[in-house]
Amino acid sequence: MNAVARSARYAVIGNPVAHSKSPQIHARFAAQTGQGLTYERLLAPLDGFAATVREFIRQGARGANVTVPFKLEAHAMADRLSERARAAGAVNTLKFEADGILGDNTDGVGMVTDIVRNAGFAMAGKRILLLGAGGAARGVLLPILSENPLEVVIANRTQAKALELVQRFDAHRGTFCGALRASEFSNLQGNFDIVINATSASLAAEVPPVPPAVLGPHALAYDMMYAGQPTVFMRFAAGHGAAVRDGLGMLVEQAAESFYIWRGVRPETAQIYAELRQLA
Ligand code: NDP
Repeated sequence: MNAVARSARYAVIGNPVAHSKSPQIHARFAAQTGQGLTYERLLAPLDGFAATVREFIRQGARGANVTVPFKLEAHAMADRLSERARAAGAVNTLKFEADGILGDNTDGVGMVTDIVRNAGFAMAGKRILLLGAGGAARGVLLPILSENPLEVVIANRTQAKALELVQRFDAHRGTFCGALRASEFSNLQGNFDIVINATSASLAAEVPPVPPAVLGPHALAYDMMYAGQPTVFMRFAAGHGAAVRDGLGMLVEQAAESFYIWRGVRPETAQIYAELRQLA
């Protein structure tokens, strides 16, 4: 048996998937930690996610990351869910175990690690504004609440979806002592310590129409999107004096958390982040 055949197999499953940086990241983690594994890209047909996963398991695979548009299907397919995956209603990490499939969601903890540890902005006791109420916003809410912020306000273009998120996560408010509420963009009051853009507006080079005053004097503006150049949201925020950061660190940190779930070893992330930043 050659070395590759002995290695544990992992993949990122999506459609499209060719753009994914995950194989690069996991190859670096494996080399750094001495773990014998392979990590590939798997393009699943839009109507064939479950069949792709089943076939991958049949071939002896040990786990997978799941990306657009299959995170909800992955959630439905898991036999067991972590608390954060259940709260998010979406799964980006599958671990294939002898007695079934474990579904987890590492996006939120990846973002929180990037903000708190890498960028040095604590969330405890702070006012946090979350723009957007789609899958990404839902995925990060429980990890944000777990940091004990003073207040989390969710603002979304479609107000009903922001209200729905508040209702969905109200039960988790016991883990922190602040408030959780929804607002319209134009009604946002006061300023915030951390403003997170979890909308996909940057993809269309648009900025959610928030009053610039939402950015407090030492605010961090975080765009989950990442690109070679600062996004329009980052340029808007920097123009009003905020520190800015994009979602590349979130990508690397969510990968590190998946790696930990699969292998029980926590890789170091700074080096690969610096390399990807150079390539971006
Ligand atoms: P969804 O499609 O689930 O949600 C999109 C959200 O963006 C909705 O809240 C939508 O509002 C809002 N939106 C879209 N266009 C605009 C606009 N022009 N102005 C204001 N709001 C708008 O997407 P996701 O939640 O999955 O992804 C959101 C972003 O997060 C993407 O840019 C994605 O690339 C990024 N992301 C980054 C990750 C990382 O690792 N760095 C991981 C996951 C996501 P409405 O409800 O009104 O339609």
